[in-house]
Amino acid sequence: MTIRFENGIVATLGSQNRLLWNGAVVAEGEWVVAIGDASAMAKRFPKAEVVDCDGKIILPGFICAHHHFYSTMARGMAPPGEPASNFVEVLERLWWKLDYALSKEDVLLSAQIPLIECIRNGTTTIIDHHASPSYRDGSLDLIEDAVREAGLRASLCYEVSDRNVPGGGIAENERFIKKIGKGDGQIAAMMGLHASFTVSDETVEKCVGIANDAGVGCHIHVAEDLADRKDSLAKYGLPTVNRLHNLGVSGERSIFVHCVHVDEAEMELLADTETIVVHNPESNMNNAVGVTQVLKMLKKGVLVGLGTDGMASDMLSQMRCAYLLHRLDNRDPRVAFMEAPKLLLQNNAEIAERQFGLRLGEIAEGRPADLAILDYHPPTPLSEANFLGHFIFGLTDANVDTTVCRGKVLMKNKEILTMDEERIAARSRELAPEMWKRL
Ligand SMILES: [Zn+2]
Repeated sequence: MTIRFENGIVATLGSQNRLLWNGAVVAEGEWVVAIGDASAMAKRFPKAEVVDCDGKIILPGFICAHHHFYSTMARGMAPPGEPASNFVEVLERLWWKLDYALSKEDVLLSAQIPLIECIRNGTTTIIDHHASPSYRDGSLDLIEDAVREAGLRASLCYEVSDRNVPGGGIAENERFIKKIGKGDGQIAAMMGLHASFTVSDETVEKCVGIANDAGVGCHIHVAEDLADRKDSLAKYGLPTVNRLHNLGVSGERSIFVHCVHVDEAEMELLADTETIVVHNPESNMNNAVGVTQVLKMLKKGVLVGLGTDGMASDMLSQMRCAYLLHRLDNRDPRVAFMEAPKLLLQNNAEIAERQFGLRLGEIAEGRPADLAILDYHPPTPLSEANFLGHFIFGLTDANVDTTVCRGKVLMKNKEILTMDEERIAARSRELAPEMWKRL
C-alpha cells in the first residue's frame, strides 16, 4: 500500500535535517519512498491513499531506550507497609513484590496498556526490560505477540537475577534470543540482567556466554543507586562498571541503564568500550537516587540515550525533563539545550540501530516509515535553524494525532486502530486489585 502523508510541516531530522512547509511523506509498504512538496508528491503518486496533515508537524517516530511494561499495574496502588525510605526498600517493598505477583494475563495487559500509550505518544520503538518470576517461561512470547498486535517495534529481554533462584530467567532469555535470531526489524532480543548487586559472577558469566554466542548485547541497570556501587566495591573490590566490564558485559550492543554513581574512570571505560548508557531522568528523580552526569559523559564520548524506566511512554516530556534537570544540576542556563534533544533524536536512533540493524529516527528515502504526526501551528517562524526551540518549548505540549510504524497507521485522529483500548483498560481494572492482594 502507498500512503501520502501530506500538507503538513515535515521535519526529517537525521543527516539531511530538512524542514518543509506544506510537505508530504510518501510511504510504500514499510518504507519511506519520497519526501517533498505536497503538490509534487500528489502528481508523482496520484493513486496513493491520502492522510491529510494540515495543521500538523510530521516527525520520525520516537524511540524509548529503556522501558518496563510490567510496571503498569503499580499505578494507583498503595504498597503495603511503611513507605520505602531508600532505593533498595523501593525494590524490596514495591517492585520485587509486584513482579512476583504478576499472572499470565497480568503480563499481557501490563504490556498492552503501555503499548497503547506509546502509540498515543508517537513512540514507535521501545527497548523493554521485563520481570515476572511467577509467569516467567514464555513471558517474552506473550509480550512479543502484544507488540506485533500493536504494530510497534520492540527489543525484549527478561531480567535475570539471583534474588528468587540463582540465574532465574537465563533460560527464558536464551530461548527467546535463539527464537528471534537476527530479528525481522520489528522484534529484537537482548540478554537482560537486573543489576550488578543481584547477580553473582557465575550468573553474569553464563549470561555473557549466551549473549556473545548469539551476537546480542546485555541490558542491565548499573549504579542506579549508591547501594549498587557500594555492593560492588565491598564484594569484588571494584566499581560497578569495572566489575561488569571484567566479566565481559560491556560493549557496543550492551546497555548500561542509569549509571548515576560512576566515577570518571568508569565513564572513560564506558566510552572506550562504546557501551551504551541510558538516562532516565524522571525515574531517577522519583526514586531520589541522584543525577547522572550526562553532560560529562557526552563530553567523554559516551553514547547516552533516553528512556522512561517504566514511568511513562512519552519521550517528549522525558526529553524536557532531562533539559530542565541538567540546567538546574549544573546551575547553568547555557547547557542542555543541544544535549537533551540529542539524547532522544540522535543517540536513541544510534542505540536502536545497534539492536534492530535499521536506521530509525529520520524521515528519508529508503528508511523505515515510522512517523509521529502532532497537532502544531507554530506561533513564530519555524525552520531547521530554530527547530530545537520549538521542540523543547512547543512540541512537548503538542498532541500526537497520528502514529505510523512500519508504514502502517496505528492511530489516526487520536483513535487507536490496532487495539481495543477501552476493553483492555477495563480488564486491567478488574485484574489489578486481585494482583495487589497477592503482594
Ligand atoms: Zn529500569
